[in-house]
Amino acid sequence: MSIEVLHRSREEFLAALTAAGTDPEGIEAVRVRFAGRRSGLLRDLEETLKGLPREEKPAYGKALNELKRLVEETLGAAAEAASRAKASTGLDVTLPGRRPLVGSLHPVTLVRREIESIFLRMGYSVADGPEIEDDWHNFEALNIPPDHPARDAQDTFYLPSGMVLRTHTSPVQVHTMESQRPPIRVLIPGRVYRRDSDLRHSPMFHQVECLVVDEGITFGHLKGTLEAFLHGLFDPSLAVRFRPSFFPFTEPSAEVDITCVLCRGAGCAMCSGSGWIEILGSGMVDPRVFAACGIDPKRYTGFAFGLGLDRVAVLKYRLPDLRLLFGGDERFLRQFGMGVPA
Ligand SMILES: [Zn+2]
Repeated sequence: MSIEVLHRSREEFLAALTAAGTDPEGIEAVRVRFAGRRSGLLRDLEETLKGLPREEKPAYGKALNELKRLVEETLGAAAEAASRAKASTGLDVTLPGRRPLVGSLHPVTLVRREIESIFLRMGYSVADGPEIEDDWHNFEALNIPPDHPARDAQDTFYLPSGMVLRTHTSPVQVHTMESQRPPIRVLIPGRVYRRDSDLRHSPMFHQVECLVVDEGITFGHLKGTLEAFLHGLFDPSLAVRFRPSFFPFTEPSAEVDITCVLCRGAGCAMCSGSGWIEILGSGMVDPRVFAACGIDPKRYTGFAFGLGLDRVAVLKYRLPDLRLLFGGDERFLRQFGMGVPA
């Protein structure tokens, strides 16, 4: 008899819950009616158990526990279904829209584009070349003979085929001179590779080089071009100075310094207290390089210079560590989203 009451309660509960559907208030009302702590039906049924004769207690108790579990589980599932239904239909048109994440250009790309635009305005074209080079283009044609220290295995990545990962963008100068006749005015940006990795060096880095070849090109043209370029890139008030230097592919050669962009010459940690920052290497193209590339060194002269794009990015954006450029940290890269041309 008392077991039948349990069966009837079960049917009633299921019918009431079905009627409530996905209405959260209806479901709550069913919960209070059946599982409410103070006056729920299950509580009444528990009271009934206490008054039963001993022999009826086990069967009733078992059935009551099953009913309790059913009520608890079914109510939980109904509440979950109700919240899902609300989420899928509860469109709040007053909520602010979600901003899509907008990509940004890498600082090295920003610097490369800026340098390209300076030289494009001066009538240069941009040239490109392979990152895997043969010995001739990476070394030999640039007046770097087989015993030159620049070929040291410490510096160069050699491939099993005997090819190398280019150690500078200069091989593109060779390709250009092999395929074009003067006048030549090219800018060559690109990735280069050296076996070097520490605080200031990365095994892959970016260079940009410039090559000008024509009749009557002098060191004066080189100086004027570099000053216009560095003033355009940094600041017209910066001083530019030339120091004699040596490179195998230029003669004479000069390293170029600018006033420290951080301390303006007063001396700081970035410039090691000197007030100057070394920015690029330059020189007049060595006649042997012209001869190797099939350009008459008696008729033509030219200049070339090269600098590290990563270093320019470090200076322009005041980066404390070069490795930030290659770490791929989105928080760092996102800061360069502003000012990106659409
Ligand atoms: Zn300084």
